[in-house]
Amino acid sequence: MSDSIDTHADVIIVGAGIAGIVAACELGDRGKRVILLDQEPAQFLGGQAHWSLGGLFMIDTPEQRRMGITDSHDLARRDWMGSAQFDRAEDDWPKQWARAYLDFAASEMRPWLHEMGMRWFPIVGWAERGGSGAEGHGNSVPRFHVTWGTGPGVVAPFATRLQAHVAAGRVICRFRHQVSHIIVQAGEVKGVSGEVLAADSAPQGAKTNRQEIGEFEVYAPSVIVASGGIGGNLDLVRKNWPRDRLGAPPENMVAGVPFHVDGRMIPIAEAAGGHVINGDRMWHYTEGLRNWDPIWPNHGIRILPGPSSMWFDALGNRLQAPCLPGFDTLATLKEILKTGYDYSWFVLSQKIIEKEFALSGSEQNPDLTSGKWLEVIRARLMSRGGAPAPVEAFKKHGQDFVVADTLAELVEGMNRIAEVPLEETHLRRQIEARDAQVDNPFAKDAQVIAINAARNYRGDRLIRTAKPHRILERKNGPLIAVRLNILTRKTLGGLQTNLDSQMVGADGAAVPGLFAVGEAAGFGGGGYHGYNALEGTFLGGCLFSGRQAGRSDLIA
Ligand SMILES: Cc1cc2nc3c(=O)[nH]c(=O)nc-3n(C[C@H](O)[C@H](O)[C@H](O)COP(=O)(O)OP(=O)(O)OC[C@H]3O[C@@H](n4cnc5c(N)ncnc54)[C@H](O)[C@@H]3O)c2cc1C
Repeated sequence: MSDSIDTHADVIIVGAGIAGIVAACELGDRGKRVILLDQEPAQFLGGQAHWSLGGLFMIDTPEQRRMGITDSHDLARRDWMGSAQFDRAEDDWPKQWARAYLDFAASEMRPWLHEMGMRWFPIVGWAERGGSGAEGHGNSVPRFHVTWGTGPGVVAPFATRLQAHVAAGRVICRFRHQVSHIIVQAGEVKGVSGEVLAADSAPQGAKTNRQEIGEFEVYAPSVIVASGGIGGNLDLVRKNWPRDRLGAPPENMVAGVPFHVDGRMIPIAEAAGGHVINGDRMWHYTEGLRNWDPIWPNHGIRILPGPSSMWFDALGNRLQAPCLPGFDTLATLKEILKTGYDYSWFVLSQKIIEKEFALSGSEQNPDLTSGKWLEVIRARLMSRGGAPAPVEAFKKHGQDFVVADTLAELVEGMNRIAEVPLEETHLRRQIEARDAQVDNPFAKDAQVIAINAARNYRGDRLIRTAKPHRILERKNGPLIAVRLNILTRKTLGGLQTNLDSQMVGADGAAVPGLFAVGEAAGFGGGGYHGYNALEGTFLGGCLFSGRQAGRSDLIA
């Protein structure tokens, strides 16, 4: 092989998701020669970030202040540490990353992104409110900043920077290059090797072929692993499942991430000296829908629910606080699985679905993804007698939805898709009890109290929380039930790294020449979330860890 710029560089990056792209941009800015490899075709550029809602965790921003939210670095730190509950010796680097990200999110992050042209939807929201204790998991204030243009709006400014580096010859992109080996000789990183895969014109996000048509080797003294997590590989998710905390892994799950989030690169990095920590920490959702119009295999869509739907386990028993819609992901997951079944139910009214069902994903939010105000106003504020179009489409076509005028018909429909039959009288008693609380300003029902609290925030009252009403009252109907599946998404643990994104081996020593960024690095350090994530911190961690690697003096 000739010593050409096609095969020799200063740095090789494995993975053209957002973390890899950010690292490539920053390295290109420093005049480094970069080879960026990805197993998928060029149209997949941006990886999962393209599909994301583009929500970013930032602290004390002008958007928050305009909404009357008082936030601070100190409050965010307390929220983060209360959520993370770091308790392991190996949490040393993750803790340092958490602190460093908090500093970044409270200072440079927004100006850096703003300068590149990024803007945010003015209503700052909650993707996850958290548990019920002041010292426990959760956000004390809304911090989820949805980017105008959603996921594609996050990728776009970096893709533009990347193209400029490609045009200048500083960055070479090689798609359909699947890395299978990191070449290390006499303790020194030399490059990577793997297979060239056959071209594939599949639409972005779909499953592509793995037909090998050749082999390749490329050389550089530094390799950055930016290969994402494991959420698309359900066997790997089950293998790493935290049985001690959550019980047996679910038999049925839907995939909240594309097929390429396969985890295959992680053991390859370990074989070269990397070290995975916190592999049992993961972030999967409990409100997954089977996509009626799937893009990737077993494609699941997550509902980001407002607070009003009633939540029942598979046996028809109402979940208790903090297992309320949008509150505490892992506590709810545990409660659901305790029943021995891996699904649960939302029961709600048409009025609730119209205001409270947001679907996660750029393609499910065409108005926000368009980045145009007119589209947003049309879809969210001017829609009469219906939820946003993608939600109505699920209601009509989704196999997990039941719509009926009476509770008897609803339960009949639920029982057609249930594994364990439900009794109408059992559900009716619980819904009537809840309904009796809604007119009472001194309600004792924790969920009704939570609904009233949510409506104290202008943002929630405007677009996220339906006016309290009786679910069983006909004028608020029809009634809707949704069978909710467990949906895989984020890998919280990963390759241990120091603050330069350099891998740290099992012996605690830095591994010269090897770096990891994004989800592959547990978003920084090998798991900077600890046990629980505050949302918006996944993209945030990819941006930050990619930047740290790209700016590191350790990459010569
Ligand atoms: C629907 C959805 C909504 C989301 N919403 C949000 C949100 O609002 N806020 C938030 O913070 N986070 C969100 N996330 C999470 C966030 O998008 C991801 O965690 C993040 O984009 C991961 O980026 P990454 O660069 O680390 O990895 P990826 O995007 O997974 O990219 C990794 C790349 O590496 C390539 N690769 C892997 N192995 C190899 C190999 N051996 N050889 C060559 N190439 C390889 C893959 O093909 C892929 O292109 C969402 C995710 C999804 C799917």
